[in-house]
Amino acid sequence: MADNKLYDVLGVSRNASDGEIKKSYRRLAKEFHPDKNPEAGDKFKEISYAYEVLSDPKKRQVYDKYGLKGMQQGAQDGFAGDSLFSHLFGGGLFGGFGGFGGPHRRRHKGEDTVHPLKVSLEDLYNGKTSKLQLSKNVICGACKGKGGRSENFEQCPGCKGRGFKVVYHQIAPGMAQQIQSECTDCLGDGILIKEKDRCTTCRGKKVCNETKILEVHIDKGMKDGQKIFFRGEGDQQPDIEPGDVIIILQEKRHEVYQRSGDDLLLTRTISLTEALCGFNFVLKQLDGRDLLVKHPPGEVVKPGDLKAVMGEGMPLYKNPFEKGNLYITFEITFPENNFADEEALRGLEGMLPPRPAFVLPEGDNVEEVELHQFDAASDKGAHGSREAYASDDEDHMHGPGIQCAHQ
Ligand SMILES: [Zn+2]
Ligand SMILES: [Zn+2]
Repeated sequence: MADNKLYDVLGVSRNASDGEIKKSYRRLAKEFHPDKNPEAGDKFKEISYAYEVLSDPKKRQVYDKYGLKGMQQGAQDGFAGDSLFSHLFGGGLFGGFGGFGGPHRRRHKGEDTVHPLKVSLEDLYNGKTSKLQLSKNVICGACKGKGGRSENFEQCPGCKGRGFKVVYHQIAPGMAQQIQSECTDCLGDGILIKEKDRCTTCRGKKVCNETKILEVHIDKGMKDGQKIFFRGEGDQQPDIEPGDVIIILQEKRHEVYQRSGDDLLLTRTISLTEALCGFNFVLKQLDGRDLLVKHPPGEVVKPGDLKAVMGEGMPLYKNPFEKGNLYITFEITFPENNFADEEALRGLEGMLPPRPAFVLPEGDNVEEVELHQFDAASDKGAHGSREAYASDDEDHMHGPGIQCAHQ
């Protein structure tokens, strides 16, 4: 991203001292001054601009990091505020940098900070204000982000002036991953103010770590994964617009309800008696109300039946007086074996719809078989796999008169 153009204009190296820059500027300014050298055209302006930037530690820092493009943006953002600059770029100097022109360019912005926030379904139903504590970098108040008393810089020892550190991270024996991350000592600038002049509060880093409490307003009806933005609450860094803090909501699992958009779902198990003879039950709604659910006798509920309570779902985001629906899927537990004697069963049968007509078959081809309770998981070992049942195995018993398919 950075370029060397301004150093090239002054004929100095990137590491040139202030003195070297000044010396070179004076020499070139004399040589290319329009009074002396009317043929040089814009060369003098380029020299002047290069000196203006490189003689100002703050501007030089920005230039070193972001190049001419960064300087141009800095001018637009108002911190450099030099009309000479826009004049230069307006004139298409430095080999056509005019291409960056236009009023809607992206500003330099710090990284966004993302935090997950676990919220209960109750909180999403009722709304809530959560306090979130986070630590962030703020511009050091003691030195106002300058880093120290002087503008004498030295190479950052932590990153040797590169602005980043390379960390080797072993991912497997004999296999290392190389991770490049911004130097935390100089915040990627590659330079620090000389040790003796460094601000003692921030140790020359220009920023201090601060704990901040953010009030997160969870509105009724917000959803899992929804983002809440705190504009400009990210880490501060001199000359750079801070990024945002972004809170991402994570809905916690609820014991009773499952959410589907604006609707609430739940599965309710009732007894066979309730399924046939009606029932009442109470559901605790997410706002604490007790919902009395009544089902009249005579309306039969079948396994898997889905019933809705209209308007008892989640409140709609931004329109919380409207609500989704509550859907209840019914499961039915049947009575245990031998729950009634034969006489009682005959009585029960008398009440239930009649059986389908059945005529007992007769003849040699009739074979009575037994029904076993089959549990796929536990019966597998005892009786072999289902495939064995399906195959024509010689061991299969066959009754009198039944021909084996193989013979
Ligand atoms: Zn400081
Ligand atoms: Zn560094």
